[in-house]
Amino acid sequence: MLQTIKMTKARLEETKGKSLVYDDWFDWQWQIKHSIRSIETVEKILNMQFPESEKKELQKTISKFPMSITPYYLSLVDPENYKNDPIFKQCFPDPKELNHAVCDLVDPLHEEGDSPVPGITHRYPDRVLFHVSNICSMYCRHCTRKRKVGDVDSIPDKEQLQRGINYIKATPEVRDVLLSGGDPFLLSDSQIDWLLDEIAKIDHVEVIRIGTRVPVVLPFRITEGLIHVLKKYDNLWINTHYNHPKELTSSSRAALKKLIQAGIPLGNQSVLLRDINDCPMIMKKLVHQLVANRVRPYYLYQCDLSEGLEHFRTDVGKGIEIMESLRGHTSGFAIPTYVIDAPGGGGKIPIMPNYLISSSSSKVILRNYEGVITTYQMPSDYSPTTCDRNCENCNLQLELEPHETESAPIGIAKLLCQYEESITLVPQNLERDERIMEE
Ligand SMILES: *Cc1c(COP(=O)(O)O)cnc(C)c1O
Ligand code: SF4
Repeated sequence: MLQTIKMTKARLEETKGKSLVYDDWFDWQWQIKHSIRSIETVEKILNMQFPESEKKELQKTISKFPMSITPYYLSLVDPENYKNDPIFKQCFPDPKELNHAVCDLVDPLHEEGDSPVPGITHRYPDRVLFHVSNICSMYCRHCTRKRKVGDVDSIPDKEQLQRGINYIKATPEVRDVLLSGGDPFLLSDSQIDWLLDEIAKIDHVEVIRIGTRVPVVLPFRITEGLIHVLKKYDNLWINTHYNHPKELTSSSRAALKKLIQAGIPLGNQSVLLRDINDCPMIMKKLVHQLVANRVRPYYLYQCDLSEGLEHFRTDVGKGIEIMESLRGHTSGFAIPTYVIDAPGGGGKIPIMPNYLISSSSSKVILRNYEGVITTYQMPSDYSPTTCDRNCENCNLQLELEPHETESAPIGIAKLLCQYEESITLVPQNLERDERIMEE
């Protein structure tokens, strides 16, 4: 490890024509300032050269989707076998990014369509996604927001952030605010403090989450100063983004440890990526290392339909196979939920193998991870409390505070309600309805 740091640093020095102080390596601002943005620098550092024709293609690719790699992250690449290196593939462009797939969408998750004010995506009833930064320390090649990240024109300014905060203030049903970007930890400590303070002051906000890839690509950003700020907020959760066990280096683990010691629960969201982590063994090793460092695997995402990502996508069967290899085979809390973020703003949909094989009114038939088929007998006298949404008169003692009054149920949950009369959810613009109108 020390060897590769020294080598990366020495070769960076050659390109800059000046010598760099060793300690600087551990300074996150130094890392950002020396982020690698040209193909030539990568060639120098990996001590290789691309053929001219390939280089042209690579140039074309980064003029559309810019490249930026922290020296730290690049130093994890194995120069002897960079072509197959999972680190290299996540940070170095591939001309395949320029291929158009028929299904590619500019905003596959409909984040702009579900945006009441710029920067806020309000899709689910009780929580919002708040884009607070447009910059990242490294541009992941598989980024779903490729289109936006690094685009200087859309860096949210303080006024835009204030509008987002005002929206949250004015929307009492929001109890969970998810700060995302770009990477929120690329803001300064004082900007982060200001944002967290403004949000924490809002009475109806119960939890604040931060999504960041800094522990993976720039672990030195987790400074004492930042910890000092984060520690002030006692309802903060952090989700990070490891995709491969190789990313859990000693520097990275040290960053996680600081966050854990500050009392912040950590989760991880991985993306299933072709030729990078689409293997049950790799995924198992990854989740084991995560929990050993007190990071709870949260989601495993099917790769989105954003432009330029088709060469990263796998089929859904691979994801199901991975989930099959985890459940039962390892600790339950090491198993993430595999989700497809539905195009068009449908949100995250969990996908898993089928465990429920059949049922009757007295039994369900289940199978376990070994293939054992078993039965579960239903109780013969179960009659659940009849719900009429009149919680004060119910014997279940929910004891809602006045401000907690549940909003009316929606979606499938509404169809299941005993006190609701709707019996169907019907899509808009049904052809048969149109026929009736024509008559
Ligand atoms: C993922 C996401 C959330 C948070 O979803 P959870 O399942 O609660 O983690 C919220 N809003 C948007 C738009 C999202 O994409
Ligand atoms: S850290 Fe996240 S937002 Fe930033 S480039 Fe990587 S995937 Fe995209």
